[in-house]
Amino acid sequence: KKLMDIQPSQLLKRKVDADDGPSTKKSRYSGDEAEEHALFRGDANAEARALAFRRGSATLKAHPKEIVCEEDLKNLPYIGLTNSAKAGHCKMVAMEILSEGFSDEVEDVLNGSFYKSMKLFTGIFGIGPQTARKWYHDLGMRTLEDVKGKNISLTYEQSLGMEHYDDLNTPIKLEEAECIIKMVEKACNEVCDELTMTLVGGFRRGKSQGHDLDLLISHPEDGKEKGKLVLIIEKLKEHFIYTGRKMDVSNNLNKGNFASSTMDNFEKCFSIFKFNKSWLNSNLEGKAEWKAVRLDLIVVPSHQFAYALLGWTGTKHFEREIRRYARTEMKIVLTSHGMHSLDTKQNFPAETEEEIFQKLQLEYRAPSERCC
Ligand code: ATP
Ligand code: MN
Ligand code: MN
Repeated sequence: KKLMDIQPSQLLKRKVDADDGPSTKKSRYSGDEAEEHALFRGDANAEARALAFRRGSATLKAHPKEIVCEEDLKNLPYIGLTNSAKAGHCKMVAMEILSEGFSDEVEDVLNGSFYKSMKLFTGIFGIGPQTARKWYHDLGMRTLEDVKGKNISLTYEQSLGMEHYDDLNTPIKLEEAECIIKMVEKACNEVCDELTMTLVGGFRRGKSQGHDLDLLISHPEDGKEKGKLVLIIEKLKEHFIYTGRKMDVSNNLNKGNFASSTMDNFEKCFSIFKFNKSWLNSNLEGKAEWKAVRLDLIVVPSHQFAYALLGWTGTKHFEREIRRYARTEMKIVLTSHGMHSLDTKQNFPAETEEEIFQKLQLEYRAPSERCC
């Protein structure tokens, strides 16, 4: 359970769907607010404060037992066990929620004008906290109407973000994802029948909805995946609103909370897909009713596939922690491309995720258990 989720009545661990957010749970908080607020503020130590909240919430979410009182928090890492100001802060909020069912501090954040506006602005495709902060502090902007009205210059991506704001902020449902998966699979097959397509991201972890759909594309023979993305996009041309830049623009798209070292060099496409509602609802047959959906396509060479699979399954926090563990405990640098020893510079090839866990001397965790 995430830190902000702990409601006395519903503290049991859910393995799947644990990070689905408020729409599938009747909790007061989605779980990301305290971390998010720190990143929105972006002041000194913001990253460290955000990380402390994420770690505290990840601890609670992964905890196998129900947490009902202060005593239960005592031995939890990043909350009761660690004696730091940040852990103390996590514990204080957790205890507030345990006794009151909500936290005054979090309520204040949620109801505050800064958080509300930042949430709105960073919800625009292509807008990160930095631009959003500038709009809020320097230009005095508060609402989406202000964005439209102030005559500020937007990039092409950002103007698409405004145009499709509501669609892109409506979660993609599993059934919609499945429909798109079939279409991409078909396009891959038409381009080359040996291409493989693999679901990653939140849907691979078992979530029933997501902010986008992430797919890895590969070919069993190294090198033969090259140049295929353009052809796949060409096949699906009529279904795309936007096909991103082929190179990595994730700095903008990931809202800035991604250190550059976690970015990879795969050929990829952060697209906006035109999902025709009639594909799922035959009552709409013939009507041009569609919604904009974010689709990420990442092309990976066969020998890096296992690493890309691990790196793109997430969560972001899981990736951050497993990489930190690899580096500090094992002296191994782990990325979505591979891993190598810091000392000997030796590379470790791997065919499966299981092998990577094994090499790191970690117990294997299935995707549904990476929901921290
Ligand atoms: P959601 O369901 O909301 O989309 P998600 O876990 O799928 O959640 P994404 O932002 O789609 O979140 O990212 C999926 C995973 O891919 C992340 O956990 C991250 O580890 C990895 N990832 C995302 N963007 C990049 C990038 N530019 N470079 C490398 N890895 C990335
Ligand atoms: Mn995703
Ligand atoms: Mn994505």
